[in-house]
Amino acid sequence: MAFQMGEETRQVQATWDVTTYNYKVDGRGIKLLADGMKDKKILGIRCHNCGTVYVPGPPFCRKCYIPIDEIAEVKDSGEVVSFAVEMADVRGNPLDEVRVSGMIKLDGSDTFINGRIQVDDWHDVHIGMRVKAVWVPEPQGNLSDIDHFEPI
Ligand SMILES: [Zn+2]
Repeated sequence: MAFQMGEETRQVQATWDVTTYNYKVDGRGIKLLADGMKDKKILGIRCHNCGTVYVPGPPFCRKCYIPIDEIAEVKDSGEVVSFAVEMADVRGNPLDEVRVSGMIKLDGSDTFINGRIQVDDWHDVHIGMRVKAVWVPEPQGNLSDIDHFEPI
């Protein structure tokens, strides 16, 4: 039986940057990032061809499709590029405290990392908001060494 498109079916012609949604990060880039965090450094990989800085660093540049391995340190401050306000758990039960998680573009990086944003009032969070990492008291060299981000 052949599939036939009904009248409701619409085709959307568009270019999809699939690298945004699905990309491979090998253990090397994660290890580099985690190891640096012990010294409160955020390390990514820069493409020597186009200059794009990735955090965490992938083995290949997603624009040039060439192997990359130049270590680049980025700042622990950056800009909120998107965020979500969580008011309930997965079952719909209200949370005691509203949580805000966001995608943050660190200064010097061309990619985003995920982090919790701590504010007194979630209404204050906005796209473009400047934030800074708050590190745990004694970083251990893992990805949870950044406890959260707070407004600058
Ligand atoms: Zn490149």
